[in-house]
Amino acid sequence: MSDCEKLEKCPFFIKYEGSPEFKTQGFKNLYCTGPLQSQCARIDFKAKTGAPPSENLSPSGVEFC
Ligand code: SF4
Repeated sequence: MSDCEKLEKCPFFIKYEGSPEFKTQGFKNLYCTGPLQSQCARIDFKAKTGAPPSENLSPSGVEFC
């Protein structure tokens, strides 16, 4: 499976990558470059609402803040 086309510009990672409080690499491994990519909550939100999700919405669906 190829990496998510949004990976370089994904607002979630722009905000949280590198934050000592939040570990984001696991999300990338599982969702963005891994087997759960088709289940990403950010992609699902956009598909269902037509609107971009909050930058706080993680790929698992848990809201960061
Ligand atoms: S969080 Fe979702 S939309 Fe963002 S890069 Fe990963 S798979 Fe793509």
